[in-house]
Amino acid sequence: MFEPEIVTPIKTLDMPLGGAKGFRAALKTLIDFSLIANRNQQGTPNKIIDQQDDTDGSGTSNALELILELARRITGNDHGSLGLHPAVYFYGPSGQHQAPMFMGTALLFKRKLLNNDPLFFSKFAARRAMLEKTLVDYKSTIATILQGYVSKHRVEKYAQFLDNLIERTGNTKEITNEEIVSLSGLTGKVFVGSSQSGSVDFSDTVKSETFIRKALESAVKCSICNGYLDPSKSVSYDHITRKREGGCGSAANCDLTHPYCNQSSKS
Ligand SMILES: [Zn+2]
Repeated sequence: MFEPEIVTPIKTLDMPLGGAKGFRAALKTLIDFSLIANRNQQGTPNKIIDQQDDTDGSGTSNALELILELARRITGNDHGSLGLHPAVYFYGPSGQHQAPMFMGTALLFKRKLLNNDPLFFSKFAARRAMLEKTLVDYKSTIATILQGYVSKHRVEKYAQFLDNLIERTGNTKEITNEEIVSLSGLTGKVFVGSSQSGSVDFSDTVKSETFIRKALESAVKCSICNGYLDPSKSVSYDHITRKREGGCGSAANCDLTHPYCNQSSKS
């Protein structure tokens, strides 16, 4: 369905906002996400050669539905949305978007949706606060781990690592740097450096690191799971005392939650 060759002609187009390079990167992200969302029951991507001609458009419609289903699990205000905070899940220590983290997270969720595994998402919500603390505290280690994976397996390996990490957070004992490296499946020592500089001026990396750290320190958290909220993209307004128990619509009775958490606490 998605021909990689379609990337070529856009080289000749005049692209504002990041130019053709930025546009190609965005298009690649869209194609990669589409392929993950359309994986089959065996979890392997559907190949173009296996596709029937889509004479009535239903195949395209189905593919778009699957893309929306996965995207709505990650962000947005739909009931099942986990409303993942991008700075926690998809950005490296210096505030750079990490495509393998985004695709790996999407791949793990797609697998759980394919396996019809609703328990996974309730487990994720229950362990979310500890998981997110780990993802934030060990951003440098995780960035180094990602670099340690062979490029073509990076998304797959990150999905497995995240799954392992979610399992590990079932144990509330504080996690260590060594354990994180062990869960990554990488053998040998993972060197973790910090952005130290001999200069008295702040480098762009130091500024970015500081910005992301301060932004997360002041971020609002979900009143149900205590995970980070990104209210600009995903938020649900929760009655602290439920309506059926006499709760009113005042600001004092209103709290912010992830859409998924609000829905789950009501069921
Ligand atoms: Zn929550």
